[in-house]
Amino acid sequence: MSLPLKELIKIGQTQLKEAGVGDADRDARDLYCFLDKIDTVGLMMHWQDTLQDNACEAYFDLIQRRAAGEPMQYITGVQEFMGIPFKVTPQVLIPRQDTETMIEDAIEAIEKGTLRGRPFIKAAAIKEVLDLCTGSGAIGVSIAKMCPKIKVVCSDISPEALKIAEENAQTSGCKSVKFQEGDLFSPFCGKLRKRKFDLIITNPPYIQTDVIPTLQREVKDHEPMSALDGGKDGLDFYRRIAAEAPSHLNKNGVLMMEIGYDQRISVTELLQQTAKFSDIICLQDLAGKDRIIAAKLIGK
Ligand code: GLN
Repeated sequence: MSLPLKELIKIGQTQLKEAGVGDADRDARDLYCFLDKIDTVGLMMHWQDTLQDNACEAYFDLIQRRAAGEPMQYITGVQEFMGIPFKVTPQVLIPRQDTETMIEDAIEAIEKGTLRGRPFIKAAAIKEVLDLCTGSGAIGVSIAKMCPKIKVVCSDISPEALKIAEENAQTSGCKSVKFQEGDLFSPFCGKLRKRKFDLIITNPPYIQTDVIPTLQREVKDHEPMSALDGGKDGLDFYRRIAAEAPSHLNKNGVLMMEIGYDQRISVTELLQQTAKFSDIICLQDLAGKDRIIAAKLIGK
């Protein structure tokens, strides 16, 4: 069975549509580009080509994986985030565009001391950053890339995730980023003293356990549960972070956390209850949804 490329892609598009894939037309084209290592311009140039059996088979294998709900990013192995290509595997959450907003805010705080134009901390106060629950390394590596003078440490409980994050730091030229394996702050609790940072930034798991089965199949069947499940009320990690972050922040250190669109009040309250944070503010993502909580450790 040899097929003209445009026929092949049309069949791929139909199969993906029938399987309920959202952007079937684009995914079918992108899967061919991935297979043939070409971009969309290359695709147009080959549009009239006739493909041999083995190429068609390889293409339909990919179509089948996508039709079964596997995310494009796990098939192609990459997701761009902050303009940087990040390697992703099913061991790490696929970095989301929603999270890019938090990186832009963090960079503004690092460079100018402001958050969305408002004074927040002293300029140049942030020198050491911890990306907690780093996953693919998207947050820490992006900050290291954009702010090369900053020391960045990335940590995660999953050794598989940390391997991917380290690879991403290497390939994006951020060789000075350091990695620590362990449960939340445990790698930073020395016998004599706790390691402290000027900014702790994190996108922890925050989905309520019983909401997970209602998520898109791409997410619930393929992304790592350990990166999504925030416990019964989705707040397990925020509770622990609120309790433990103060002893890992330098004076006036900043905590920045991604949150779910409906978690502003509960996460704000968790931070207030510790009585250790001031200036607790919530920032919105590009869609206008509550997405980030930032707070400052009260200076002593
Ligand atoms: N934002 C992710 C989602 O919508 C969840 C990420 C997380 O739990 N930290 O699937």
